[in-house]
Amino acid sequence: YHLDHFVIPTHYEKDVSSILIPHGVIMDRVNKLARLIVDESNGPLVVCCILKGGHQYFADLVNVIKKLTKKSGNSVPLSLEFIRVKSYHNDQSTGDVKVSLTEDECKEFKGKNLLIVEDIIDTGATMVKLLEKLRQYEPASIKVTSLLIKKTDRSNGYIPDYVGFAIPDAFVVGYALDYNEYFRDLDHICVISEHGKERYANA
Ligand code: 5GP
Ligand code: MG
Ligand code: MG
Repeated sequence: YHLDHFVIPTHYEKDVSSILIPHGVIMDRVNKLARLIVDESNGPLVVCCILKGGHQYFADLVNVIKKLTKKSGNSVPLSLEFIRVKSYHNDQSTGDVKVSLTEDECKEFKGKNLLIVEDIIDTGATMVKLLEKLRQYEPASIKVTSLLIKKTDRSNGYIPDYVGFAIPDAFVVGYALDYNEYFRDLDHICVISEHGKERYANA
């Protein structure tokens, strides 16, 4: 029982305005999502971590899936892939994404079952473009899990297969989600404060 888990690190005390999802609640949800994913999987999965924001959810999710498949009858061997995705959308419709994988690495996806692990869906533009690109390599299936989805009128309507939490239209940080690379080292998912935005604004 670690009381430290309920606390905002002193270096971020003034930089968040509220804890939106405490770490323990995130972990409970990750456990449930892992169970759902294992129940609906048969055979090998290529679990693709969308860096950097997806790394904590990916790590915790894979950990639970590993434990579950030790006990259950479901055989789900995992291979792990890491993708950095840069989205360029000047306007919502003509945006494109650049992925960090080489052509050869992408060709490995052919015939495989992919599980994409993302931190948050905001407009949905990045994920729609990423899926378009990945489908060109003819995987057997692609499923997407996002820990968070924002309720916003900027949404293009995209909804992942497995969602952790729907959240209000605010900028959130923590649990690997960043603001200019800061706040990834925060256990809880928090709403950034004006103080935090100013303090960590890009120079
Ligand atoms: P979308 O293309 O869906 O609009 O945006 C997707 C990406 O924008 C996310 O993967 C994430 O990197 C970033 N993003 C969107 N909303 C937030 C937020 O509230 N907090 C953080 N830290 N990143 C966000
Ligand atoms: Mg992301
Ligand atoms: Mg970011």
